[in-house]
Amino acid sequence: MKYYDKLIFELSKSGRQGWSLPDTDARIELPAELMRSEEPQLPEVSELEVVRHYTNLSQMNFGVDTGFYPLGSCTMKYNPKINEEVACMPGFSQMHPLQPESTVAGAKAVLEGMDKALAAITGMKHFTFLPCAGAHGELTGLMLIKEYHIARGDKARTKIIVPDSAHGTNPASAAVCGFDIVVVKSRENGLIDVESLKPLLGPDIAGIMMTNPNTLGLFEKDIREIAELVHDCGGLLYYDGANMNALLGVVRPGDMGFDVMHLNLHKTFSTPHGGGGPGSGPVGVADKLLPYLNLPKVSGFHGNFGIILRAYAYILMLGKENVKLAGKYACLSANYIKESLKECFKLPIPGVCKHEFVFDGLLNDGAHDDVHGATTLDVAKRLLDYGFHAPTIYFPLLFHQAIMIEPTETESKETIDSFIEVMRKIAAEAAEDPQILHGAPHNTPIGRPDETKAARQPVLKF
Ligand SMILES: *Cc1c(COP(=O)(O)O)cnc(C)c1O
Repeated sequence: MKYYDKLIFELSKSGRQGWSLPDTDARIELPAELMRSEEPQLPEVSELEVVRHYTNLSQMNFGVDTGFYPLGSCTMKYNPKINEEVACMPGFSQMHPLQPESTVAGAKAVLEGMDKALAAITGMKHFTFLPCAGAHGELTGLMLIKEYHIARGDKARTKIIVPDSAHGTNPASAAVCGFDIVVVKSRENGLIDVESLKPLLGPDIAGIMMTNPNTLGLFEKDIREIAELVHDCGGLLYYDGANMNALLGVVRPGDMGFDVMHLNLHKTFSTPHGGGGPGSGPVGVADKLLPYLNLPKVSGFHGNFGIILRAYAYILMLGKENVKLAGKYACLSANYIKESLKECFKLPIPGVCKHEFVFDGLLNDGAHDDVHGATTLDVAKRLLDYGFHAPTIYFPLLFHQAIMIEPTETESKETIDSFIEVMRKIAAEAAEDPQILHGAPHNTPIGRPDETKAARQPVLKF
């Protein structure tokens, strides 16, 4: 039996205790109706047992603080601890949202400073910090687009164009906002096909949502032409800046022609994420949309202030010059892995990538199945045995066996080299002893759960 097979209640032994308090007569009298009628059934365990139990539980989780986490389209970069220290300063952490404005000058300065910094990085005019996630930001941005058209009496614009490589939240947000979705195809080289975009444009188009670099890690080189075409038909351009890493300090969405965008502070700007929150998806706008920026009230007060604060600490710590290096190193890391592994994994779109790239499963020579049916899922599960988190798999949907790798700028060459070595080892295992892969993971507390049931019918209690 392993440590994680027992609840703290099962470790309980009558009379054992992990505390000691001085004998005293001091009593607080509570009204009778507030008193318990029987003793609480608390576990009786020693201090050491408590420490081990919770420390072991914490180790069952994989986080960026415990190992390499190359999750494409999710930027699991290191979250510097200085961010946490700043967010824990009592002047910030003890604030109440209804405090008089004169007592929160520091917090206001943070929001103003952040607005300026993000405007400088993105080329937008101003930001709202209300949205609490990327998808929340998308919805907010789309509401602004809708407001813009309606305010001009242009009520026929009911459609949003989304590329087939888009993050799933893009069409979902557009649908939630009441738009119909029109899909524009990518070409063989992974970029939007401008020729198939043209016939889609007309008086019913409210705008287009784009990610650049797109989810394949490729820069949409035709963005200027696309912006002109969409603007000419009366539509607006939405920029999904969840993963702005590659462009930081190099290229600005505002200069590419985008009118509105969101950033994921919990990806690009090094605040913690995973497990559902808390995040922050500030939305920035160009001149055209400025009058509408403060209309949607999508959350209370100033959004997730603690997250904004962490991101601000990160930006100030890097400074103007080093912000540029983050993106460059992120691109270097991604290209290094891609080139080192393309002998073993199928690289559908060769050439230089930005901060991430996509393999299409293990490489075999096509004449016979020399990887013995080992799938991307097998590779991902086997990686866990070697102590690495799996990359994003089966996304984007353009390839059947997609493995999307994003190393970020925060990993050392040694870590990246050991990841490359393990990926090569897994490719060799697939050719020589595929059963090892099919049964993986072998060393984790849980093996292979039913992926659908684990998400749809989670069992959250013992
Ligand atoms: C993560 C991501 C989103 C959604 O962000 P959430 O905070 O998870 O809602 C949107 N677009 C892209 C490209 C992303 O990677």
